[in-house]
Amino acid sequence: MTVEPSVTTPSDTQTKHRIVIIGSGFGGLFAARALKRRKDVDVTLIARTTHHLFQPLLYQVATGVLSEGEIAPATREVLSHQKNARVLLGEVTHIGLDTRTVAHEVMGRQTVTPYDSLIVAAGAGQSYFGNDQFSDHAPGMKTIDDALELRGRIFGAFELAELAPTEEERRRLLTFVVVGAGPTGVEMAGQIAELAQRTLRNDFRVINPSEARVVLLDAGPGVLPSFGENLGGKARAKLEEMGIEVLTSTKVVDVDSNGLVIESQDGTRSRIESKAKVWAAGVSASPLGQQLSAQSESGLDRAGRVEVAPDLTLKGRPEVFVIGDMMALRGLPGVAQVAIQGARYAVKVITARLDGKPSPEPFSYFDKGSMATISRFSAVVSMGKIQFGGFIAWLAWLGLHLVYITGFKSRVTTLLHWFVTFIGRGRAQRVTTAQQVLGRRALQMLAEQARPQLPPVADDPTTWRPSA
Ligand SMILES: Cc1cc2nc3c(=O)[nH]c(=O)nc-3n(C[C@H](O)[C@H](O)[C@H](O)COP(=O)(O)OP(=O)(O)OC[C@H]3O[C@@H](n4cnc5c(N)ncnc54)[C@H](O)[C@@H]3O)c2cc1C
Repeated sequence: MTVEPSVTTPSDTQTKHRIVIIGSGFGGLFAARALKRRKDVDVTLIARTTHHLFQPLLYQVATGVLSEGEIAPATREVLSHQKNARVLLGEVTHIGLDTRTVAHEVMGRQTVTPYDSLIVAAGAGQSYFGNDQFSDHAPGMKTIDDALELRGRIFGAFELAELAPTEEERRRLLTFVVVGAGPTGVEMAGQIAELAQRTLRNDFRVINPSEARVVLLDAGPGVLPSFGENLGGKARAKLEEMGIEVLTSTKVVDVDSNGLVIESQDGTRSRIESKAKVWAAGVSASPLGQQLSAQSESGLDRAGRVEVAPDLTLKGRPEVFVIGDMMALRGLPGVAQVAIQGARYAVKVITARLDGKPSPEPFSYFDKGSMATISRFSAVVSMGKIQFGGFIAWLAWLGLHLVYITGFKSRVTTLLHWFVTFIGRGRAQRVTTAQQVLGRRALQMLAEQARPQLPPVADDPTTWRPSA
């Protein structure tokens, strides 16, 4: 028996311009919201998760400061009052540029959605630089699932250490290694150290959590390279003051369940015994970029990002925009502001066309600066020539993140949890389950078993006939 993919169209769509947005991250959500006042468009936002994820605070979910709901409101709820927008759950499997359709799937149900304009904002995933097997033992941090798995592994390591029969096993369990000294790695290492030294200080009877060893590794020569030498140096000094071992110019060459093998610049290899490892190095853009590139004149950069024209469209396909972490343009970084400003710009181009107005000037990015926390009361901020660190930087970080968290409810509870954690010692979200720790591998194994039965993806999704 075969099942026809259903074709979705809003009821009164014939007279309206159909805009399909892929992704509910910063790019996708801000594009949908920017279209709020347009009565002449139908917006369909398709994403593989039901939430909009505020990725910059994932590390706080992983270390028990915040709950997943606080950083991941339901996209449907966020857009519930926007009458021209609808939200569809589904993994986009195929984009047909000639047929102007997007094929998406959820739990075996295939759907095809036609578009007049398309905004692709499917973001990026973790890159293990060709060593995907490392992910079994060192999860990345890109999704809520990743953060909850890491939470389970981190808190679980302390629990198992309390039971460890030998000193060797205890040391292995109390050694935490974070790979990648960019903002995510620095924030993660800082939080694990604070967890061990403050939150868990009095909670165990056999082990002393504050003796935990936290190691931050990077293949490059410095910490927070995008912040420059001065702030990077300050961040490194603060991390070391907190007892974190910072190993730069050090490459990870192997990872297994009990530890990792590292190589220093002179080629010397050594091993760090560690159960809980975090991978915060490297990104690779959504594989949808390959489909777009194969069907257009746009190439891909080394991270799989799509090279776009100055108006953020695919070369030769002016109705298709690629924004955010999937977009390669003049070396712009994969940060939230690039996605947000790109989303607003794409909407500006589409609405100018609908209004018969001239195209806006090419996209130009306004760099508002960047910031990263190191520990409570300590952060670094870089805004052009203005650079500072310490408590004021931390307050600036706090305020800005509160502004960008979506929804009043989430802002209030986040503030409350920050108060509990930063002023007190507690962490409100210490729940971990075996499902969180094992779920990712279980799902991967299921997918691997199911893969041979999946139908091949046809070039034209309207002719795609999946088997039932
Ligand atoms: C841990 C971490 C910390 C960060 N910290 C900062 C920070 O402090 N400051 C900063 O500016 N930036 C930070 N970033 C980067 C920032 O989050 C990204 O640049 C930004 O999210 C990019 O937005 P986007 O819309 O392109 O992609 P994303 O926000 O990643 O959204 C992609 C969306 O596409 C969906 N999707 C993907 N594939 C498919 C598919 N096939 N079908 C359907 N849907 C799909 C996803 O579910 C998601 O909804 C951080 C990122 C991470 C991972």
